[in-house]
Amino acid sequence: MFLVPGKKALVVLAHQERTSFNYAMMEAAVEALKKKGWVVTVSDLYAMKFNPLVSRDDITGSPRDPENFKYPAESSHAYKEGRLSKDIVEEQKKLADADLVIFQFPMYWFGLPAVLKGWFDRVLTGGFAYSQSEMYYNGPFKNKKAILSFTTGGLESMYSTTGVNGDMNVILWPLQRGVLHFCGFQVLEPQIGYSIGHIPPEKRSVILDAWKARLAKIWEEKPISFVPNEEFDLTFPGGFVLKKEVMEKHKEQYGPSVGQHMGKPLPPDSQVKSGCTRL
Ligand code: FAD
Repeated sequence: MFLVPGKKALVVLAHQERTSFNYAMMEAAVEALKKKGWVVTVSDLYAMKFNPLVSRDDITGSPRDPENFKYPAESSHAYKEGRLSKDIVEEQKKLADADLVIFQFPMYWFGLPAVLKGWFDRVLTGGFAYSQSEMYYNGPFKNKKAILSFTTGGLESMYSTTGVNGDMNVILWPLQRGVLHFCGFQVLEPQIGYSIGHIPPEKRSVILDAWKARLAKIWEEKPISFVPNEEFDLTFPGGFVLKKEVMEKHKEQYGPSVGQHMGKPLPPDSQVKSGCTRL
């Protein structure tokens, strides 16, 4: 039996209702992970009444420059000096402790519920979650794995490359590359429950069972691949763009990623499947 004793998981849940499918997904995750020896913590953001608003109140003590308050600089100084507000520090401790982080939420407006966006805004402070020299494959969370587990109102076909809502790979890029991978997380394939309120009840039970089965072996999963840091010229004169020789290599059909597409067709399924390796 595959066991991961002592590994720690954090589930960050953004749903108001205990009777919701998202709540059931969180409960299924807790049950399945505990069965395999994980220590599991849940941040139930609505139940906690988590404050999603970035503001001066996030910093205790005197700001360095109260006349010209700049949140990114003030918050990273406050992080280094132990002056962030208690609710942020508590979430940062949970995150620092976790090997695996699951974000469980209903898709809102092709993105996140505001409370979860606010959690990202306030908890992922500079110095803690990223720095100029630590980002993407070199980010502070490079030894952690993260998953977006979410439900939609729309059908899967609506999120296909010909669907009315557009390609899910494009929708996921800002969150998976712009938030999770930026901070270094190894991003596992998203768990997507399409059209969750409009499918037969028995299908929802199948989804919950499949989620539990996936979680039983989650630590063995390979992450989604992104363009490696060393393939960019990460200097100001270089402009932080793909190196010339790397661009030469990508003369093929597809661009290297959803973001660095070089004006070519996007690599298929690269944000929803981990097996879609780069050319
Ligand atoms: P629920 O409605 O709570 O649950 C679905 C069904 O599962 C219900 O019948 C419930 O009884 C049942 N259920 C609960 N627990 C269990 C269980 N244990 N076993 C089996 N069945 C169970 N959708 C999009 O596709 N794109 C968007 O951009 C988008 N934007 C939105 C913006 C807003 C502001 C809102 C409010 C909704 C938006 N939606 C969008 C729709 C939203 O994504 C869905 O309503 C949401 O994903 C449904 O998830 P839920 O957990 O709330 O489902």
